[in-house]
Amino acid sequence: MSRFLSERHRNLTPYDSSGEHVEARIKLNTNECPFPPSPKAMARAAEAAHHLEVYPDPECRALTAKAAELLGVRPEELLFTNGSDEILSFIFLAFCDAGRPAAFPEITYSFYEVLAGLYGVPCRTVPLQPDLSLRPEDCVMPGAGALFIANPNSPTGLVLTIPEVEKIIGGNPDSIVVIDEAYIDFGPDLRAGSCVPLIHQYENLIVTQTFSKSRSMAGARLGFGVACADLTRDLRAIRDSVGPYNVSAMTQAAGLGALEDEDYTRANCRAICEARAFTAEGLRTLGFEVIDSVTNFLLARHPKIGGQELALTLKEQGILIRSYGAPALRPYVRISIGTHEQMQALLDALMEVLSKRAP
Ligand code: PMP
Repeated sequence: MSRFLSERHRNLTPYDSSGEHVEARIKLNTNECPFPPSPKAMARAAEAAHHLEVYPDPECRALTAKAAELLGVRPEELLFTNGSDEILSFIFLAFCDAGRPAAFPEITYSFYEVLAGLYGVPCRTVPLQPDLSLRPEDCVMPGAGALFIANPNSPTGLVLTIPEVEKIIGGNPDSIVVIDEAYIDFGPDLRAGSCVPLIHQYENLIVTQTFSKSRSMAGARLGFGVACADLTRDLRAIRDSVGPYNVSAMTQAAGLGALEDEDYTRANCRAICEARAFTAEGLRTLGFEVIDSVTNFLLARHPKIGGQELALTLKEQGILIRSYGAPALRPYVRISIGTHEQMQALLDALMEVLSKRAP
């Protein structure tokens, strides 16, 4: 830390992505999609590259119109951002402060806590059940600025039903409820189980989604929030105060191309679901306890080896999976779902690792 760093950032705990980008033979640690983006997305991005001399459209109008049509909302109910991490950041800036805490489950996407630290927002956590599930009745957080629920949750992979989510929204009428649907497309069909339609019923609901997972665009950085127009107006004001040109022209174009190719996304999600079922079965055969998941990852643990040791052993073989330092998650590894071939290679490697362990 330099001697110039502001006093308010002296105790910052930033998100640690240092282990995430190392070169690997098989990369299953950050829940990316193993397939390339849609050819339509790539073609539109290439076309947009010819016009980079001008600033991008701050309102992402073409992209917003297409997304609004697909989601069944009005364009003013949508706000696109530089990844969904950025809309989460805007939500903290707009609705949380020292007197309006952020709340989230004790095990969830760790970036919520990082943002709270950055903005000096106190945190309250919702306890989980021993099986890592979340009970809606535990989510009543009076006085919170915003309650963040990743649905499906990461890293557990568990999902709440729409009536359960409605119970949470109804239980917190004076707080913003954020339903983070980064992984919603890996259920039975694209967007099945999404809470987006609920924004027309609840003035305190914001649903966020990303193009990083099901649309294979993690490198382009594109996410969005959907909410009633009053809330998106607040968030737009934050955006225009932080930086109005937050989504690059190439990213907007690629996003539009991706939305014009829903069949491509649907086929990829289906392939991921098949590979997920294959992997879960293979892991269980090897003695892993695997939590049923509706996402593009699996949380699993093995009685013979801890999460960090297992991740380290696989890393030596060029396979990256995610492990955790938090006590409740130490036995677990989170494995992103890749192609069938990648998952077969993972299972082969695991079989070899476990065969060297004492019975
Ligand atoms: N929400 C959840 C639950 C996530 O797991 C992630 C990233 N892995 C994000 C949001 C942010 O994704 P992005 O910024 O790439 O859109």
